[in-house]
Amino acid sequence: MNTWLDISPESDFSIHNLPYGIFSTPSRRPRVGVAIGDQIIDLAAVAMRGYFQSLSIEPDVLEQPSLNAFIRLGKPTWQAVRKRLTQWLTEDDSPLQHLRQECFVAQSEAKMHLPLEIGDYTDFYASEAHATNVGTMFRGKENALMPNWKHMPIAYHGRASSIVVSGTDIHRPKGQIMPQNAAQPVFSPTQALDFELEMAAVVGKDTKLGTSLRPEEADDYIFGFVLFNDWSARDIQRWEYVPLGPFLGKNFASSISPWVVPLKALQLFRVEGSKQQPEPLPYLQTSSKRNFNIDLEIAIEPEGERETVVSRTNFKNMYWSVGQMLAHHTVNGCNLRVGDLLASGTISGDEPNSYGSLLELSWNGERPLTINSNQARTYLEDGDTVTLRGYAEQEGIRVGFGEVQTKILPSL
Ligand code: CA
Repeated sequence: MNTWLDISPESDFSIHNLPYGIFSTPSRRPRVGVAIGDQIIDLAAVAMRGYFQSLSIEPDVLEQPSLNAFIRLGKPTWQAVRKRLTQWLTEDDSPLQHLRQECFVAQSEAKMHLPLEIGDYTDFYASEAHATNVGTMFRGKENALMPNWKHMPIAYHGRASSIVVSGTDIHRPKGQIMPQNAAQPVFSPTQALDFELEMAAVVGKDTKLGTSLRPEEADDYIFGFVLFNDWSARDIQRWEYVPLGPFLGKNFASSISPWVVPLKALQLFRVEGSKQQPEPLPYLQTSSKRNFNIDLEIAIEPEGERETVVSRTNFKNMYWSVGQMLAHHTVNGCNLRVGDLLASGTISGDEPNSYGSLLELSWNGERPLTINSNQARTYLEDGDTVTLRGYAEQEGIRVGFGEVQTKILPSL
């Protein structure tokens, strides 16, 4: 597919991607856009000129500060818009070509916003390498995986209100910490601030309370994916998490990338998952290609310095798939709603340079990482900027997620 637009071959936002986001410009409020190369197609401006009328899309749906109203129009509409944009970007003399002044905005001139109104956020724990690493650190090698882990995608309910978009700085959280060998906890800024490299699926269709989905139905219920950084304060988490699980060590923030890559754009990159042994219960069984081949990386940039890539891994490493997460989440009748996020859990590979958190990369603080050959890190310092990136590439076709970038500020 060739487009008349000038797009760098290295761009994450190729003609094969067409991710959705919410952007604003100095003169106009937040609205729906689609990224292409270094530009944004202003869908609200396109609709205002009547070009989506035949698809029965009210311009108002694209003037919203979130994608939820557009997602609610349903899969046939997402597909029709995608088809039309592809056509217009590849055909000469198309309406978009004639409206370059009116309907394109340079990404460098736009501000990106949180793309979704997120009702609920669920965090899974679906990487075997990650679960094994954490289990080994806290329970020893023999008991690394809990007995339930290979029978179901383990998860907990996270906090939706504190999910922020890339570019939003985060203050080091404070809380109760129990120092080693101490008798009393102390109140302090966390000394163990960590990231978690994850991908999150965006729910694209409501399910009805009391009903369940099969893994194969994911294609109809997932709108797309974003990069997800699930921040963690390990010392706060360690002291509070028994018996009810993650709370203040996790819910102070999670960060997402601004562009939602449509599931449709990722079909080419589907791969078989590894064999699941023992065989899961029937409601979790699936014969389709479960996973996605998406390269991921994490970089740390100390204040005023260059960045160092500290880990490279791949989304295909997951044990449990998004379809299985969806099936498990709804098996008891729990309903999902448009805009909900299902995060994968930390994505780690088997090698130490492919781990998805500092907890693992520094092995619980025992093995400091070297950044820029002059700085050591076990956990994050104030002024550090953390960037997650991801892209899929095959046969010269590149579909990328851009990045989610966050700077750590001192405690308030
Ligand atoms: Ca997590």
